[in-house]
Amino acid sequence: MQRILVLGAGFAGLWSALGAARELDELGAAARAEVMVVNATGYHSIRVRNYEADLDVTRVPLGEVLDPAGVRWIVGAVQDIDTAAREVEVQENGARRKLRYDRLVLALGSRLVHPPIPGLADYAFDVDTYEGARRLERHLAGLAERADEPGAWTVLVVGAGLTGIELACELPGRLRKIAGAAHADKVRVLLADRSAVIAQAMGGAQPVIAQALGALGVETLPGTSVLEADAQGVRLTDGRRIEAATLAWCGGMRAHPLMEKIPAPRDALGRVQVDEFMRVQGVPGVFAAGDCAHALVDGAHESVMSCQHGRPMGRYAGHNAAADLMGAPLLPLRIDWYTTILDLGPWGAVYTEGWDRKLADQGQSAKRTKRLINGQRIYPPRNGNRADIYAAAAPVIQAPPPMLAGSAEVADA
Ligand SMILES: Cc1cc2nc3c(=O)[nH]c(=O)nc-3n(C[C@H](O)[C@H](O)[C@H](O)COP(=O)(O)OP(=O)(O)OC[C@H]3O[C@@H](n4cnc5c(N)ncnc54)[C@H](O)[C@@H]3O)c2cc1C
Repeated sequence: MQRILVLGAGFAGLWSALGAARELDELGAAARAEVMVVNATGYHSIRVRNYEADLDVTRVPLGEVLDPAGVRWIVGAVQDIDTAAREVEVQENGARRKLRYDRLVLALGSRLVHPPIPGLADYAFDVDTYEGARRLERHLAGLAERADEPGAWTVLVVGAGLTGIELACELPGRLRKIAGAAHADKVRVLLADRSAVIAQAMGGAQPVIAQALGALGVETLPGTSVLEADAQGVRLTDGRRIEAATLAWCGGMRAHPLMEKIPAPRDALGRVQVDEFMRVQGVPGVFAAGDCAHALVDGAHESVMSCQHGRPMGRYAGHNAAADLMGAPLLPLRIDWYTTILDLGPWGAVYTEGWDRKLADQGQSAKRTKRLINGQRIYPPRNGNRADIYAAAAPVIQAPPPMLAGSAEVADA
């Protein structure tokens, strides 16, 4: 029995595994090769929703999707990857074991970057992972007990990339709910970023984001970061002290550190470079997808650390790993569109098209598109039907998310 081993079951890994299982089935080779997934938890985390208030809906049990698809999976932490020996070392139930592979798909994703700012590791919260988002949720729920401390109802979000903006827009409403009538007027949310203009890179969306932040009462601190943090607050790079019971760090992502074990070229974000077939350059039998891989998605533009790219990269990586193993032709990935749909909390959302981010939609109609994406589009089929799951894993590129101006069809999705 040959083995396609997939490391990670996020957007890239889950879809790699399903894409590989589908292709083996299509080639009539399911009895000759198995697809096996190693993931740190028993869940497919819809990581993009970690800024939202309801985290219960953000995890899909792996067995719900992988079992009907005939994919074997284990919960374990990958410790080492040896591409010369074609082996991966995994910590599983307190014991280490080695797993051999015939084809390997790297899909271990990325991690929030933590620079060595004093106090950051001890006092900052984040929404990078489900566990991190739960920790923030517990902390916010406990603020009522510290209600009268200075800065109890102040949150400083640092980093105004997409994650920081989405979190900052959610927090005023969430905090006011926790604070209740007695303290709601003390709620303060600040958003700091090193760049001179908040959301500078967001093209046509930038003024919309500024408008939404203003309407939601989020104070912005451009050209500012954190110098040091403690349990009561932070000192900013401009020398100011802010009393804040909550510091949320959203300072950017870097590819999983195990990518350093792969003897292949890496980019500035630590991602291994792959060709249009998702093959890691110069390392036979190894494919990569999602945040740990750097691809040119249309021959010119670099893949973005996003589920928008991670899911199709995964489907193609899995498909091609199976095709390669069975001597079938590989399929090149080509995505000729790029969109950004950013949640702006109760204000709505903003939708941009193209790499230069032309404004396409905003407000509540863009929010309907965002709800469709977060609530439906990026989930795998959950009906246990193998044919549906394989159909969703086919190596094809979806159309861009629809614009739903005037439509009520997914208002509650
Ligand atoms: C709050 C937030 C909002 C976001 N919003 C958007 C958005 O609106 N649109 C968008 O396109 N993208 C968004 N992103 C980015 C998106 O979530 C990532 O780009 C995407 O998750 C990458 O998919 P991936 O499969 O490469 O990595 P991940 O989804 O991170 O999956 C990696 C998997 O590997 C597993 N793993 C890690 N280390 C190990 C190990 N040692 N052993 C075993 N398993 C391991 C993890 O448990 C996980 O299951 C957002 C991210 C965050 C945090």
